[in-house]
Amino acid sequence: MGCISWISYRLLSAVSIIDWHRRLGHAPLPILKRALPDVPLREFSCESCIYDKQHRSSFPPACTRSSTPLSLVHSDVWSPYRVPSIFGFRYFVTFIDDYSRTTWLYLLHDRIELTSVFRAFLLEMRTQFATPLRVIRTDNAREYTGRTSNLCTEFVVIHQTSCAYTPQQNGVAERKNRHLLDVARSLMFQMHVLIEYWNFAVSTVRHLINRLPSSVLNFVPPIQLLYPSTNLTSLTPRIFGCVCYVHLLGSPSDKLAPRAAKYMFVGYSRTQKGYVCYSPSDGKLVVSADVTFCEDQPFHLPSTTSSSAPSIPRPAVPVTPSLSSSSSSPHVPPQVPPPLTRVYSRRPSKDAPVTQLPATSDTSATADPAPSLQLIPWPTTPLSIV
Ligand SMILES: [Zn+2]
Repeated sequence: MGCISWISYRLLSAVSIIDWHRRLGHAPLPILKRALPDVPLREFSCESCIYDKQHRSSFPPACTRSSTPLSLVHSDVWSPYRVPSIFGFRYFVTFIDDYSRTTWLYLLHDRIELTSVFRAFLLEMRTQFATPLRVIRTDNAREYTGRTSNLCTEFVVIHQTSCAYTPQQNGVAERKNRHLLDVARSLMFQMHVLIEYWNFAVSTVRHLINRLPSSVLNFVPPIQLLYPSTNLTSLTPRIFGCVCYVHLLGSPSDKLAPRAAKYMFVGYSRTQKGYVCYSPSDGKLVVSADVTFCEDQPFHLPSTTSSSAPSIPRPAVPVTPSLSSSSSSPHVPPQVPPPLTRVYSRRPSKDAPVTQLPATSDTSATADPAPSLQLIPWPTTPLSIV
């Protein structure tokens, strides 16, 4: 348990340890050793980690852990962040299963959406698991009162809150949000990703930390503890924010037209076995399994971010609404990573049909393991991810 083996040893050995470190959300060496047992590892230094991860801990780790899934779930709302994401999100809320430490993350435009998100989460837990969610623990912020708290009565869930000015009583959720932000900063810094794409960064981090060995769980990945039959090897991780080329499959109307389009790699689909790619020039968001990655090429050049892109605030502890009004940290000029020569291809193109969905289509309805290119209408309702 805990061994991910995302890819064969032959391919593993072709990728440097620092590149795996960057693909896997800047995971520390002990975690990489567990995740990549076949790769000879050595000490390395990473500038992004030095700049963007904080090492001070205000919330001591919990000494106990639940013995069954969903007996206790922790939750916390982050921000409002002063820079809305490209789709207008300013908040995110996390739900963390105390037993497996699996994290669900929902992006929010406004605090008022928490009630509908909370209902969706409770319904999903009721549908997906045989055991009911028994206790949810939050801080005593106002967004968890009123209609949101009433949902606990409706779903027969005990709502525990921390005492006033005692955020450490909600330490699991606070630490999880801090971890998400620490790694998101590193992902964005390493590839000069613009700050308005923070929604992609935190969603990507949530995907990775659910699948990486956790020291809290004796180096078992959280999602493997919750879903023992989950295939963790289904999608090879890639470096967030790099240039990628999405192959346009099917028969083009113009036989001399390009057969691929340039995108920025921004994450992993929850419902499809594919990579999420974004084109800032035309606002297209696609999921595709047929992608060629240029992991040595940041989509945004360093000069693009230097003038207007503050970083996600650091330090981020405690994670409270006060972050929204805090001034940005001094911007550290990013450096171009050492050039690599590899270009990774996902797989050879096949004659799969091209599917371009209309803007109102629901892309979450399918979990086809080999989907073709799909345009994603970004949901106007909050996005749930696990
Ligand atoms: Zn790093």
